[in-house]
Amino acid sequence: MTNALDSAIPVACWSCHVAQNDVTLFCPHCSKIQPAAAGDFFQVFGLRRAFRIDPEELEREFHRLSRKLHPDRFARASEREREWSLADTALLNDAYRTLKDPLYRTEYLLKLEGAEIGEQHAGKNRQDPSRVPPDLLEEVFDLNLQLEEMREAKAAGEADPVLQANLKEAKTKFEGLVEAVDEELRRQWKVWDEGNAQAREPAKTAMVRLIDRRRYLSNLVRDVTETLGA
Ligand SMILES: [Zn+2]
Repeated sequence: MTNALDSAIPVACWSCHVAQNDVTLFCPHCSKIQPAAAGDFFQVFGLRRAFRIDPEELEREFHRLSRKLHPDRFARASEREREWSLADTALLNDAYRTLKDPLYRTEYLLKLEGAEIGEQHAGKNRQDPSRVPPDLLEEVFDLNLQLEEMREAKAAGEADPVLQANLKEAKTKFEGLVEAVDEELRRQWKVWDEGNAQAREPAKTAMVRLIDRRRYLSNLVRDVTETLGA
């Protein structure tokens, strides 16, 4: 992905030729539509990079830009402006979907800030012992045994109310752990948003670890839910 920002070269408006550093869908000078630039979703909405954003402001700006990009407005525009309006709409929708979701937003901003994050980083196999958060090794081991028992009981057509109750309890417990991760994430958001470069680095590292832990825990909760519900 090429990023207009990374090159640090201001892009000149095709119409009025005034240069600007920001990725904008419309020239702030002459209001003409600009070709979609792959880049910073925050800039699309005129927001500074931050983990905490005002969801109402995001929503307002999304609707305002959506209206400005409406195809009716480009009915008599040039061919390339019509094409840009479609590409800009796709970019706007992508940016909105990513930024309005707190987790997607966190992952996106961490990546923008150079953090390594994602499935390839998290690994696919949650049975891999090296992937289990160390403080949860024992509980995860027990839970996996219970899940296995439950699946066997179900396959044999047997009801096991005690096992079922234990799994429900485990599910509640792991859901609580997900909430604790979210709370800690929000704390780190604040540290990063309000901190200088020195404070940001450890906050970034902490968030990468938290996102990884959250993904792991969510997968566990999903497995328990599926096993209980199937
Ligand atoms: Zn312009």
